[in-house]
Amino acid sequence: MKIAFIGLGHMGSPMARNLLKAGHTLHVYDVIQSSIDHAVSAGATAEKSVRAAVSEAELVITMLPSSPHVRSVYLGEEGVLANVAREVPLVDSSTIDPHTARDVAALAAKQGNPMADAPVSGGTGGAEAATLTFMVGATRDLFNQIQPVLAQMGKNIVHCGDSGNGQVAKICNNMLLAISMIGVAEAMSLGVALGIDAKVLAGILNTSSGRCWSSDTYNPYPGVMEGVPASRGYTGGFGADLMLKDLGLASDAARQSRQPIALGASAQQLYQMLSSQGFGGQDFSAIIKLFQKS
Ligand code: NAD
Repeated sequence: MKIAFIGLGHMGSPMARNLLKAGHTLHVYDVIQSSIDHAVSAGATAEKSVRAAVSEAELVITMLPSSPHVRSVYLGEEGVLANVAREVPLVDSSTIDPHTARDVAALAAKQGNPMADAPVSGGTGGAEAATLTFMVGATRDLFNQIQPVLAQMGKNIVHCGDSGNGQVAKICNNMLLAISMIGVAEAMSLGVALGIDAKVLAGILNTSSGRCWSSDTYNPYPGVMEGVPASRGYTGGFGADLMLKDLGLASDAARQSRQPIALGASAQQLYQMLSSQGFGGQDFSAIIKLFQKS
């Protein structure tokens, strides 16, 4: 297939490489030239603009930082909608707010292009190993059409319902992850301050009703588990500032739908504090720093 791939950052670059490995022809564009060069060395064709990338595409995939980038790449004068052939399917895998995803998809549909939101989880490791989970908001027909291509970049491709619902699934999961990580950080810090050994406490949590992914797979207390960011100075993993961005999306979406998110809002504030203290570039489990005595 002739695929236009726009946005070759930490995630887009390895995703594009997996599509090349699967035998597709890729026309790539990014605002950063070195990212384009990297994709070209893997076999992609460099393009000078969004317009050039999509003009002959049979499928368009975008992997951009946030909502304003998605609006400008799709809706700008030189953007996707103004230059793509009718009926070509469009897939946006960026994590953005569900309202923007629905707005852009509605404008695409108006001119005859079916559009899916397909945000991912699994991080850069999942993008490299082609084991991402795709949460897809699209009609059933469009889902069936794009599923085989997404399966070349991921192993779990889930239809979440109509347009925007992929983003809904993504931001609800990440809001819950932030809350559970803060809960584990708070409980572990309290236990240690009261005198229990951190590994003993983690063992109890992980076989009791407090067990969750944040405690048994990604424990934030240093030295409790091997191979997690907490045991290597909170490097690698999922950045606290990216988590803060996702909590902002949850908070905006909640406001627009007049839905209370008491713990999600607190989580957003705590991640804002962590970021303000200069730790936004560390893994999100570094939130435990807010609970540790100096
Ligand atoms: P990134 O910033 O590394 O990559 C985004 C790329 O888009 C950059 O290369 C940037 O130059 C490019 N770009 C920006 N504006 C552009 C434009 N107008 N035209 C063309 N290219 C443009 O971000 P990332 O880590 O690859 O994440 C991409 C998306 O995936 C984000 O929405 C993020 O929240 C989400 N996500 C990231 C991770 C992760 O672990 N990094 C995990 C899951 C989801």
